[in-house]
Amino acid sequence: MNETFQQELERLMGGGILFDEPLSRHTSMGVGGCADALVFPGNREQLRDLLSLLKRERIPYVPIGNWTNLIVRDGGFRGVIIGLKQMNDFKLSQDPSGDLFLQAEAGTSLSDLVNLSATEGLTGLEFCAGIPGSVGGAVIMNAGAYGREIKDALEKLTLMDARGMERTWPCGQLQFEYRHFVLPEKDAVILDATFRLSRSNKEIVREKVTEIRRIRKEKHPLEYRSAGSVFKNPQGQPAGKIIDELGLKGLQIGGAKVSEKHGNFIVNVGQAKARDILDLIRTIQDKVLREKGILLEAEVITIGEDL
Ligand SMILES: Cc1cc2nc3c(=O)[nH]c(=O)nc-3n(C[C@H](O)[C@H](O)[C@H](O)COP(=O)(O)OP(=O)(O)OC[C@H]3O[C@@H](n4cnc5c(N)ncnc54)[C@H](O)[C@@H]3O)c2cc1C
Repeated sequence: MNETFQQELERLMGGGILFDEPLSRHTSMGVGGCADALVFPGNREQLRDLLSLLKRERIPYVPIGNWTNLIVRDGGFRGVIIGLKQMNDFKLSQDPSGDLFLQAEAGTSLSDLVNLSATEGLTGLEFCAGIPGSVGGAVIMNAGAYGREIKDALEKLTLMDARGMERTWPCGQLQFEYRHFVLPEKDAVILDATFRLSRSNKEIVREKVTEIRRIRKEKHPLEYRSAGSVFKNPQGQPAGKIIDELGLKGLQIGGAKVSEKHGNFIVNVGQAKARDILDLIRTIQDKVLREKGILLEAEVITIGEDL
């Protein structure tokens, strides 16, 4: 990243850029080498100018929400990481027929939306309780729990393409799969999502949210750094159960360990490197393929380069 580009980036963002930033400071797993630059656009105009600059200069970029489904390799990322946490406005509206819509910018945390649902007595997003992601990340991952996925509550989505053009898509025109969303435009950034909610009873919503959070605390190793479930569940049975049956709980490589509490969680028990986690993932995949004939597919996203 040359000096002229750095200066242009600084002029455009008005400061606040983290150059050569160790991404282990940001990922929920606590791993990852340095990014050339980490920037935090405050609004869509700034994001548009940023994307135009990156396109013109052919600089690779990755949009990021809350960093909770991500492994960044130890060599870091050559290019610009676009942190969206400052784009976090949301508003509730009602159309003349009484339908309720919650529009939230990509950087809004799901927990803010769940808390709003609980205080306002809104139903539709309670299943997101305890999922530590942002709206953008949840859409990209089609995040889900307890039999519901983000697509079930989604009404429409606004994307900004690499040229800075905005377009809104009704949910019906979008392609969602299990823990995967097929971006209709390559390299697009999710700007905001609108969810369709219904009125309910405040007490009922609050109880449901509290109960989900209690169960998650009981089942998940929340005392350690992790990226949630590492593998997608293959058809028929939970990945965690397969891993448990093969006696892989507790298996450790460097500072990365298969959680004793939940077989589908890899936790950072010390100074884990991305390499440790990726080696552990490969070891589990090899063993599951050999002994059960099942190919476990990673749910976590890996970016960056090796050391
Ligand atoms: C303790 C724990 C529990 C979890 N439980 C669950 C669970 O029950 N269910 C579940 O589905 N997941 C779960 N997760 C995983 C994770 O929280 C979700 O996948 C979440 O939706 C990721 O959101 P994020 O903002 O952190 O995404 P990030 O990790 O920031 O990014 C994930 C991917 O989305 C892309 N992305 C992010 N924002 C945008 C955007 N605005 N535009 C375009 N691309 C974007 C990134 O480039 C990356 O490829 C859990 C994680 C942890 C740590």
